[in-house]
Amino acid sequence: MNKKELSELLEEKACEHNKKSKSGCVKPKPGSTAGGCAFDGAQIALLPIADVAHIVHGPIACAGSSWDNRGTRSSGPELYRIGMTTDLTEQDIIMGRGEKRLLHSMKQAIDSYSPAAVFVYNTCVPALIGDDVGAVCRTAEKEWGVPCVVIDSAGFYGTKNLGNRIAGEAMVRQVIGTREPDPLPQGDRKGIRVHDINLIGEYNIAGEFWYVAPLFDELGIRILCTLSGDARFREVQSMHRAEVNMMVCSKAMLNVARKMEEKYQIPWFEGSFYGVEDTSRAFRDIARLIGDEDLIQRTESLILREEAQVDQALQPWRDRLRGKRILLYTGGVKSWSVISALQDLGMVVVATGTKKSTEEDKKRIRELMGDDVKMIDDGNPRALLDTVKELNADMLIAGGRNMYTALKAKIPFLDINQEREFPYEGYQGMVELAKQIALGLESPVWAAARTDAPWKTLTGSSDSLIHTMTGGGNG
Ligand code: SF4
Repeated sequence: MNKKELSELLEEKACEHNKKSKSGCVKPKPGSTAGGCAFDGAQIALLPIADVAHIVHGPIACAGSSWDNRGTRSSGPELYRIGMTTDLTEQDIIMGRGEKRLLHSMKQAIDSYSPAAVFVYNTCVPALIGDDVGAVCRTAEKEWGVPCVVIDSAGFYGTKNLGNRIAGEAMVRQVIGTREPDPLPQGDRKGIRVHDINLIGEYNIAGEFWYVAPLFDELGIRILCTLSGDARFREVQSMHRAEVNMMVCSKAMLNVARKMEEKYQIPWFEGSFYGVEDTSRAFRDIARLIGDEDLIQRTESLILREEAQVDQALQPWRDRLRGKRILLYTGGVKSWSVISALQDLGMVVVATGTKKSTEEDKKRIRELMGDDVKMIDDGNPRALLDTVKELNADMLIAGGRNMYTALKAKIPFLDINQEREFPYEGYQGMVELAKQIALGLESPVWAAARTDAPWKTLTGSSDSLIHTMTGGGNG
């Protein structure tokens, strides 16, 4: 990518704050890729495309330190979970063998796994030595007839968020629009007209989209592609035929939605499937943008039915959770969408993390929690624990990396980020979320951990106890 293309991605027009002059998204500063470099962001965004061979072109550490994905699930192929890299060494770099190694790797991947396509992620070292990854991909494509896609994502280009956009850009330029969607299956659809949509930034973490997918089926809405949870390469190719794009994670691939609107006139909106209210709003927005009266009515009846069911299912959990105080430390769209889910359950969100949130995310947080809301930008362990104490929080809901901070401080914790084990999307996901919070809060382990250790409650000092147990000082 050249400098101009990169700065265009940094200053994404669809970001509301970029409407002001010179207010682009965060530019890289020294140390800013500590939370993930551009390569990491690009790989995270595309790795869930399950039938593709994902090859990392670079030294082993780039792939080795980022192997596997963010807990995204596939309903079919498992190829995406095989870590592939060209494993460049000093010798390859000195002798100029990088391109040759890449070509051999692509051949090996194609021969061994017959992938639907090969994605090549360019990293810092080959970008610095000037490997022509595009030329190698074109050669491979011509030679073996498999689509080969370059993701030019050298880590030094910028942060993880920029990497998400680079990945999206590669899809818009090289993949979307290269194939027509599969014909609709024959069968009785009871006079329902089928509509096609895309979900951009839906990663199917812990399989959570499978809670929502059956509702789309019932409404006669076909998901052409979820970029990229549980996606197949051919689905990405046919995204241009959708009637509506829903942006599921605000920051990740905003450029994809905007460019598809410009190129294919597909309207888009931003929504979330976390929480009852937001899930219903997402269904309503989709039906409204499609503009089919019959669909709008059927959507309303579905929402009515699902909300009544989930309300009943949540009742016992609401009684247990009402008034509990939660400190939420997560990023992006979750910083506001999870707030509304927790408020649905009658809990009080005492503060929320906004380190990775956009100006739009912060605006939504203020709408939900009022102008005086405490937003935490600094997520270091000490600051988090001080905030828990200061605001008298009962639980910390955050990403996996904060788990040990909470556990060492004997504070109940729930993992809300990509590595989590449980699905929280949609109406059913809300019940799961309530259950996991209640189990976390009510676990007997907290009472046990907060009391003194048994040897401290016995008479005499811990020294004398150890003395007794070991049979005396001379034993
Ligand atoms: S792409 Fe660059 S910054 Fe990212 S892991 Fe590889 S060497 Fe590090």
